[in-house]
Amino acid sequence: MKKIVALIVLILFLCGCEQDKGVTSYISSSNELVAINYPVTNINVLDDKISSYVNKTYYNFKNIKSKIKPELNISYTYKEINDEVVNVSLKTEIVGDKTINKIKTFTYNKISGKFLTMEDLVDDLEGLDYEIKKELLEKYQDADMDYLSNVSYDYFTIDDENLTLYFNPAEIKSKYDELIYLDIPLDSLKLLIDIDKSSNKDTYLSIKKKNVSIDDKVVALTFDDGPSKYTSKILDILDKYKASATFFLIGNKVEFYGDILKRMLEEGSEIGNHSYDHKLLTRLSKEEFQEEINKTQEAIKNITGFTPTLFRPTYGGYTNVLKSYTDLKFVLWDVDSRDWQVKSKDKILKNIVPNVKSGSIILMHDNHEYALKVLDDLIQNLKRQGYKFVTVSELLELKKIRENE
Ligand code: ZN
Repeated sequence: MKKIVALIVLILFLCGCEQDKGVTSYISSSNELVAINYPVTNINVLDDKISSYVNKTYYNFKNIKSKIKPELNISYTYKEINDEVVNVSLKTEIVGDKTINKIKTFTYNKISGKFLTMEDLVDDLEGLDYEIKKELLEKYQDADMDYLSNVSYDYFTIDDENLTLYFNPAEIKSKYDELIYLDIPLDSLKLLIDIDKSSNKDTYLSIKKKNVSIDDKVVALTFDDGPSKYTSKILDILDKYKASATFFLIGNKVEFYGDILKRMLEEGSEIGNHSYDHKLLTRLSKEEFQEEINKTQEAIKNITGFTPTLFRPTYGGYTNVLKSYTDLKFVLWDVDSRDWQVKSKDKILKNIVPNVKSGSIILMHDNHEYALKVLDDLIQNLKRQGYKFVTVSELLELKKIRENE
């Protein structure tokens, strides 16, 4: 099985040179199944807590002994509750001989410089305690009452409708290995802070059509695992040559890069779906797989108004059964740059150029700098050979027309 992959952006984190909020991601190479994505908030104390949690979790994962190849996924939610308060959750799933789910959340007030607890957010928490435990017992009948009586409300997220309380399964001693959670409608709570509800965006952006004739030599550049801080520079180069590409995005990262997503579409590139958390899909249930797809579709649509029709499976792994669970078209590649692995410009070009033919789909990644560094040379080289750069959808359309000729 081909493995897609890529690289680490921890350096930007260490040098502190990044001004904008973003996402740091580490998506593994072929020898381990790891997808870690977490937000960079530019709030030092918060970023320190987040990265130390991630480092500790990754270190522990490396020491797991398991009969099946273990897989680590760390995903996040990030929410600006109002101008002062942000809430971050980090969900960890380790799939090995058994599955472990854990959660960590942080709520931070930028003005007071303090981490907040549930007591800071909700009035009369004690009065709610009984209701919460009753509902937990109803929802999770095997929960141990003794543990439940001491349970704390350390982990929570807030969205526009609910305050969601999370409990690590080990904490409640439930046999359940999924995360335990309870949604409490905001309307039913006496909140001590204001909550800014986000307005729904419904901008619609259409994809520009390019003039490509049936006899043209065409090639589709594709970039996986973004968006990232490198993506806008890739768009700059594409724009310079009026070339387009297809970006297979990780759903959990897109909200940080709304402007970049809009720009992709405005400048004639295409957006495809590359799952929400970059899990190995062949291990997911139908429901889990569909959730990975649907959450990403939603996130992209909310920002751009555009609904992707293409899907690229993580690590290149899929089955016909998985394919039957979605209407999205699975798109692989025939030219693999292995940019994440060979890193050097010459080697990346050597992996691509001799292997390109008309109709090729080239795999690169925009969550590190390697593909970015070769892109200018690559486009110039292929242009000299007479290639035009189209999106995957345009390429597929063109193939269909050619087959019917
Ligand atoms: Zn990928």
